Amino acid sequence: MKKVTKYISRKTLIYKTGVEYGDYTMNHVLGCSHGCKYPCYAYLQKKRFGNVDSYEEWCTPALVKNTLELLDAELPKFKNKIETLHLCFTTDPFMYEYDEIQEMSIKAIKKINNAGVKCSVLTKGILPIALSELSKDNEYGITIVSLDESFRERIEPGAAPILERLSALKALHGAGCKTWVSIEPYPTPNIICQDLSAVLESVAFADKIIFGRTNYSKEISSYKKHKQFYNDCVKEVIEFCEKHNKVYHIKEGTITEI
Ligand code: SF4
Repeated sequence: MKKVTKYISRKTLIYKTGVEYGDYTMNHVLGCSHGCKYPCYAYLQKKRFGNVDSYEEWCTPALVKNTLELLDAELPKFKNKIETLHLCFTTDPFMYEYDEIQEMSIKAIKKINNAGVKCSVLTKGILPIALSELSKDNEYGITIVSLDESFRERIEPGAAPILERLSALKALHGAGCKTWVSIEPYPTPNIICQDLSAVLESVAFADKIIFGRTNYSKEISSYKKHKQFYNDCVKEVIEFCEKHNKVYHIKEGTITEI
């Protein structure tokens, strides 16, 4: 297990967002030890606005110590406006091997549910089975862009091993929770040559699949056929989801008119 070594206080926590997972979101950690090299959009933004100076600093998470107090103050104001509160947009609520962050996330979700608000959760860590005891309206998701563990070690160096991620999600599904998988940012064949159908089959138990392309990467623009590639992937995802009766969402910009 890893210890949190940095703490910060914030003045506000819940905010409105345009992401498709929830109409409101909260980020109770600054930074993320998963250190994804896709690259991570949150890291690029935090670096650009001077919130972190380096990749090493980004990978050293700072926990917002007044998270629960902020929720107590803000939930009464927001609870009638929020349809789904998403954890998290610029960090990971179940950061791998950080017990203290995971415990704070569970306490936060409990508090949010007690205010009558449901949560959506997205992680590249391990979703604890304790989540199955919380509101069954919550939706629990993991990101999987490949089944290749050596690729995962290279591109998501601090995140949980893929099979562990998958089996935790499967356990929640088995316990009657709503589950979903984000296959995003999906890599092009010049980054890793792999079979999308194998990725889809591995998550066939989940209730919903989100698929999206890789952005902000030089490797993508150097792959000349990327538009056709993503159009073909989208077709395969939609066919798979329709065949297995799954809800799906294709992220904006993934399909291109050629
Ligand atoms: S898990 Fe998400 S927030 Fe964390 S480094 Fe990866 S992309 Fe960024």
